[in-house]
Amino acid sequence: MTCPSVFCRARCDRCGRFFRAQVDFYTPSSFFRHYRVGERVGELDELPPNTTYTGQSSRYCGRCLLMWEREEIRLWYEILARWVDSGRLSIVRRTSGEAFSAADIRYNGEWESSLWRGRGECTLFTSWPDSECEVTWLGQMVPRGGEPDGRFRDALYSDVAEELRHLRWVSVLEVDRPAKVSVDGDLRLWVTFVSSDLTG
Ligand SMILES: [Zn+2]
Repeated sequence: MTCPSVFCRARCDRCGRFFRAQVDFYTPSSFFRHYRVGERVGELDELPPNTTYTGQSSRYCGRCLLMWEREEIRLWYEILARWVDSGRLSIVRRTSGEAFSAADIRYNGEWESSLWRGRGECTLFTSWPDSECEVTWLGQMVPRGGEPDGRFRDALYSDVAEELRHLRWVSVLEVDRPAKVSVDGDLRLWVTFVSSDLTG
């Protein structure tokens, strides 16, 4: 299974501008390439005529996607801060025994999101707060590395998704826009977005 891609024109769900979208699609072939929409695939590309593949691309242009990513990161911390404010959550540094205040947590969120350039990984999931802190949520300790039933993580995802919707952004599960990539009888590649708000 490989994941070639085809570039086409698409409309950004946030700002409404057209942009050059990269639609990744899944094929059983071993051939990998970037194509342009309408391009004729080669005989050796292992993409037979009259076939259709499942794919997806970002529903946001590059600028809006970066804004979405920064906003999403900020909101992870914002929700944690609200939970601290309401007494549902406490995050205590193992070394000093000092608890993070809601303001500390918001500061971390602003800092993380301001540094974000669309690469790497948010440190919320790699080093903070699990590894350095003791996390107690709804009176129960959240074990290092996450709880077996994932309730804390699920509640966090759910509140972040709701807040994103409130701000007219989609959740992390919806940021990819589903697409169909088809090869016609003349071996040309075409893209149809499943939500039908346009393509190449
Ligand atoms: Zn945009």
